[in-house]
Amino acid sequence: MPPIAIDTAPSHPSLSKPPFSSPALALKGNNGSSTAQDEGHVDWAGSYRFAPISEAQVSRAMIKRYFSDMYDRAVSDIVIVGAGSAGLSCAYELAKRAPEKKITILEAGVAPGGGAWLGGQLMSAMVVRKPAHLFLLEIGVPFEDEGGYVVVRHAALFTSTLLSKVLSFPNVRLFNATAVEDLIVRPDPLDAGRQRVGGVVTNWTLVSLNHDTQSCMDPNTITAPVVVAATGHDGPMGAFCAKRLVSNGMIEKLGDMRCLDMMRAEPAIVNRTREVQPGLIMTGMELSEHDGSNRMGPTFGAMMASGVKAAHEALRVLERVRVEEGVVVGDA
Ligand SMILES: Cc1cc2nc3c(=O)[nH]c(=O)nc-3n(C[C@H](O)[C@H](O)[C@H](O)COP(=O)(O)OP(=O)(O)OC[C@H]3O[C@@H](n4cnc5c(N)ncnc54)[C@H](O)[C@@H]3O)c2cc1C
Repeated sequence: MPPIAIDTAPSHPSLSKPPFSSPALALKGNNGSSTAQDEGHVDWAGSYRFAPISEAQVSRAMIKRYFSDMYDRAVSDIVIVGAGSAGLSCAYELAKRAPEKKITILEAGVAPGGGAWLGGQLMSAMVVRKPAHLFLLEIGVPFEDEGGYVVVRHAALFTSTLLSKVLSFPNVRLFNATAVEDLIVRPDPLDAGRQRVGGVVTNWTLVSLNHDTQSCMDPNTITAPVVVAATGHDGPMGAFCAKRLVSNGMIEKLGDMRCLDMMRAEPAIVNRTREVQPGLIMTGMELSEHDGSNRMGPTFGAMMASGVKAAHEALRVLERVRVEEGVVVGDA
């Protein structure tokens, strides 16, 4: 089909400069030849026109990328379960420090961000105790300095900024609306008699939610030498990995989140962020369910610092092990 001629003349003088005008560009085709591409036309006076597209092009543009990502990430270096403030902080630190590692984030909800879109009691401001504000400086989130703590005017500014930074890293893939519904657990080649987490079992969340009504809806798997559990508080899906450790007999019972004490809770979460089982690092409020530490209420610094520490722990684990096709086979 010959290129479609488009009218590039601006309908108003103010539309004549970029980014308001969009003339056709000469692009290289697959065979190296120059082809004129119709890129539509911007005209706010009533003749705004999109470049042509077929329905099949839209479908294939999504399918090709989604399934090639799934294919690639069937073996990952690190899987992060849960894209709340802790999981995303972990992803940021990992992606920055280890650009060669494949970091795969799985989020059960359609909207990543977990509980960090608002502060306490659904109010807008987010309180962060120092020195966790250093993470805000690192990702470029403005705040009001109140001395020992800082306040981000709207929690959504933190979450949207962090999310956009994380997704800009080329080594990160996020699959949302995808639930982790089990862990892969094998005998640990490093420690006879122990078991090692070696990946996750996944399904689209809508499928996971319907296991009671439909049988035979088998899941998928992602193999990885390190899994970071960041699924937040106990809930229909939350604290998932901690609860699975109990039902799989790897720990006796959950510690359960204890009553609120801000001063004790935040350092407890950060300082106890660790590899709770071989191959499984736990961070954020899921750890308070696992360990039985206090809740902290609406202060978010511990989520950020715990996520960053989980990233360091993950890299430390990877340094110690020898991995073949995502499976730990021995010491490094
Ligand atoms: C009952 C309750 C008490 C709270 N108490 C506190 C408190 O004491 N202190 C405090 O700071 N905040 C509290 N909050 C607010 C908030 O949950 C946390 O501050 C913060 O959001 C926790 O961060 P996180 O990253 O650990 O988990 P979250 O922000 O909850 O993020 C977890 C993410 O994991 C996803 N997920 C869960 N299960 C799965 C799965 N199986 N597969 C894939 N993804 C999954 C979730 O969809 C979510 O996006 C509370 C919230 C609730 C509901």
